[in-house]
Amino acid sequence: MMSKFSPAKILVVDDMPDNVRLLTNILARRGFELISAYSAQMALELLQSVLPDLILLDVSMPGMSGYELCQILKLDARLKDIPIIFISALNDIQDVVHGFSLGAVDYITKPFQIEEVIARVNTHISLYRLQRQLLVENQTLQTKIQEYFNIDRDLYNDLCQAVPNQELEIYYQPIVCILDNKISGFEALLRWQHPKRGRVSPVDFIPIAEQTGLINNIGAWVAQRSMLQLSLWHKIYPQLMVSINVAGSQLLDPQFIAVIENGLNVTGVSPSQIKLEITESDIITDVDRAIYQLQQLRELGVKICLDDFGIGYSSLSRVQEFPIDVIKIDRTFIQQKNWIIANIIHLLADSLGVEVIAEGIETVEQLTKVRTMGCDYGQGFLFSPPLPVKAATDLLAQGFLEGQFLSQ
Ligand code: C2E
Ligand code: MG
Ligand code: MG
Repeated sequence: MMSKFSPAKILVVDDMPDNVRLLTNILARRGFELISAYSAQMALELLQSVLPDLILLDVSMPGMSGYELCQILKLDARLKDIPIIFISALNDIQDVVHGFSLGAVDYITKPFQIEEVIARVNTHISLYRLQRQLLVENQTLQTKIQEYFNIDRDLYNDLCQAVPNQELEIYYQPIVCILDNKISGFEALLRWQHPKRGRVSPVDFIPIAEQTGLINNIGAWVAQRSMLQLSLWHKIYPQLMVSINVAGSQLLDPQFIAVIENGLNVTGVSPSQIKLEITESDIITDVDRAIYQLQQLRELGVKICLDDFGIGYSSLSRVQEFPIDVIKIDRTFIQQKNWIIANIIHLLADSLGVEVIAEGIETVEQLTKVRTMGCDYGQGFLFSPPLPVKAATDLLAQGFLEGQFLSQ
């Protein structure tokens, strides 16, 4: 009985010591913990410091009656849910009805039928504990739901409108070949100009888009848009590449391959000039499925880049299974001058036979380091911040495709 819980506490309130003794004896033998009070006043005092799982309450007592005590308890937020079983000598239907109307869950009559008392006590304690457990679970569930939907509702509603309202824009950040300082391509980075809040960072809205599924539409728009832009640039700069960020939930979406295939068909760009950037931590949520999807994408001819590499280290054991072409060393390693890790990642990339991009290069010192290390490509504010199409096009027109970065 109640084995997986600590023993249930029962408070017996009765002015007749014989009744109290009989009930406490019976119930103590069944493994319950008993507390007794010989008046309603005494019960109230005890209840200040103990919280029983059940109260057996005599209806008629001198001074305050059981009914009055019940009414007081039901008004107390801390005590109101404790089930109360009335003890009545009367077996009077009116009495029973009155008891229930005050919030009692049951009643027993004197003289006690022992088995009946035990059965009723067991039932109500089980129900009470179940109810409390459900409440706790419900709270946990509520917290989880809240966490899940702990998104800024207004921001989400606005994000739904961002594409149709043309509030999204793609900025392009140059990716530079370390050897000859030429722009080899651009990373497409989403920007949202919110009508009231101003510029909202992708770090804030991409997670909302992911949690709500909006990312599929937004991601498809980014893919189409950046491929279209690349096709325009290709008229003058046919070697240029574009890197498109892909969130984990996009990658796992079965429609995503069709989105990329469609983009390639519509714009006519060569798949080998498209890099899809997937973050390492996104792959680990479902490694097998992610690998399968990446293989499908690679069969289209696009290149796969593992973004922010090094911070989701748990995938290290499986990294050689990932069908990838490029690894991007996470910018924290470059910025914290953690050259040992950066070098290890570079060696790993070398042994996998993939290219390396160092991102987040802000200083000449950092550039010199990654150059000595032998990284193929670099990206960062030292070269250029992400730029709107016009500025990126100007940069190309100024000859940065011919290797003028930092060498002018
Ligand atoms: P990411 O893919 O790792 O992009 C690089 C981020 O580093 C960009 O932040 C870029 O502006 C920033 N960055 C570049 N150079 C430097 C530098 O020298 N120093 C520093 N401190 N930062 C630098 P941004 O644009 O805010 O994007 C943040 C993240 O949002 C991206 O990280 C990417 O994960 C995500 N994101 C952006 N656009 C898209 C998109 O179209 N789709 C998806 N799924 N995610 C996107
Ligand atoms: Mg990226
Ligand atoms: Mg990155």
